[in-house]
Amino acid sequence: MGENSLRCCVAGGGPAGMMLGFLLARAGVPVLVLEKHADFLRDFRGDTIHPSTLEIMYELGILDEFLQRPHQEVTTLGAQIGDEFLQVADFTHLPTHCRFLAFMPQWDFLDFLAENAKRYHTFQLRMQAEVTNLETEDGRVTGLRATTPRGELRVKADLVVAADGRHSAVRELAGLEVVDIGAPMDVLWMRLSRQPDDPGQTLGRIDTGHVFVMLNREDYWQCAFVIPKGGFTEIRRRGLPTLREKIAALAPFLRNRVAQLSDWSDIKLLSVAVDRLRTWHRPGLLCIGDAAHAMSPIGGVGINLAIQDAVAAANILAPALLRGAVEEDDLNAVQQRREFPTQATQRLQVILQNRVIGRVLETTEKISLPLPLRLLNSIPALRRVPARFIGLGIRPEHVRLPVPTAPFEQSSSLAH
Ligand SMILES: Cc1cc2nc3c(=O)[nH]c(=O)nc-3n(C[C@H](O)[C@H](O)[C@H](O)COP(=O)(O)OP(=O)(O)OC[C@H]3O[C@@H](n4cnc5c(N)ncnc54)[C@H](O)[C@@H]3O)c2cc1C
Repeated sequence: MGENSLRCCVAGGGPAGMMLGFLLARAGVPVLVLEKHADFLRDFRGDTIHPSTLEIMYELGILDEFLQRPHQEVTTLGAQIGDEFLQVADFTHLPTHCRFLAFMPQWDFLDFLAENAKRYHTFQLRMQAEVTNLETEDGRVTGLRATTPRGELRVKADLVVAADGRHSAVRELAGLEVVDIGAPMDVLWMRLSRQPDDPGQTLGRIDTGHVFVMLNREDYWQCAFVIPKGGFTEIRRRGLPTLREKIAALAPFLRNRVAQLSDWSDIKLLSVAVDRLRTWHRPGLLCIGDAAHAMSPIGGVGINLAIQDAVAAANILAPALLRGAVEEDDLNAVQQRREFPTQATQRLQVILQNRVIGRVLETTEKISLPLPLRLLNSIPALRRVPARFIGLGIRPEHVRLPVPTAPFEQSSSLAH
């Protein structure tokens, strides 16, 4: 059994955990991130890097390096509603250095964060380390246990952070209460190749009974076919040709390649969950990102919120961690800072998913563009509002920690 003692141990190397690990290490706080997988390469789970995240990278001085990696830039979002086209969002007026959404596979983004974090000797990343237990003393979380290929790892830490996603084992072990908000839909994710004469824009298609979103990934379309909650069994029963036909009807230019969906393994089900913790912390433990609040896929803001939580947590907690005295008030300050943006975003998502998407999925009538939405087409300045909500979110965070003198080369034996 390996044993470690350090200031902060983060469970989960997703966007929230990796960004927090990076920021704390950069501020001089010894931090260990435990990730259960052997690498970051997994199924599609969102590739959107928002202008607010890009701004944080600018503040950290790593934006230019990031933008040198293969990515696509999207400056506007549109939707085909019935027979009409709606320009939804225009990012080109945001008060940020990057006025676009960047699309980059999430594993590349996480690799990039890991590479930058490893430049600090205070950072350790341990892959294939699955957190299975918390250690407590007098009701305070004092560490955790993880299984690794080399046996059980035991970590003592002043603070444990659960950043282990929406099925968080750590929040369950901590006995934190989850408020389940629910969603009327699930999403089927799939890829279809892209051809040179396809439309260029990333767009949504909404028509009688259907919502279909297509993200332009240059040589392929990452597609989301929205279905009623729990409806996948029925869709499978009807058969793959029926699903292919529906997709071809929604986006006729895809008709010549829907056969690429040759097997159900080409289609991944995302069971949409919307929930949040009533309290994000208990003594010695804080939850952030999806572990604190699973978001609806509407607006594609899950990664953004996870990153924002990490920045707020690092800003608030780094000084206390450096002193070696993290109190529950400090943890509560993180929740207070991030609870309003989370709740407000979820409220908006719930309105959209219940009043718009839920109804579209149920209707058998022809869909037309609602009058208030027509204003987005006739008054271009209005498109800045959705752009701000999607691109920056509510209460965007900024890196407040002092810039360290210089990074150091990684020296830890635990380093991946
Ligand atoms: C199919 C799909 C599509 C999505 N599309 C988008 C999108 O377009 N835009 C967007 O913004 N968001 C999208 N999301 C949501 C987005 O992926 C999440 O909101 C975001 O990744 C949350 O980041 P996180 O770091 O909090 O959690 P996660 O990304 O879930 O990371 C948690 C990490 O913890 C690890 N882990 C879990 N349990 C343990 C354990 N016990 N011990 C150690 N490690 C553990 C996991 O392996 C994972 O790496 C999508 C999600 C899915 C599933």
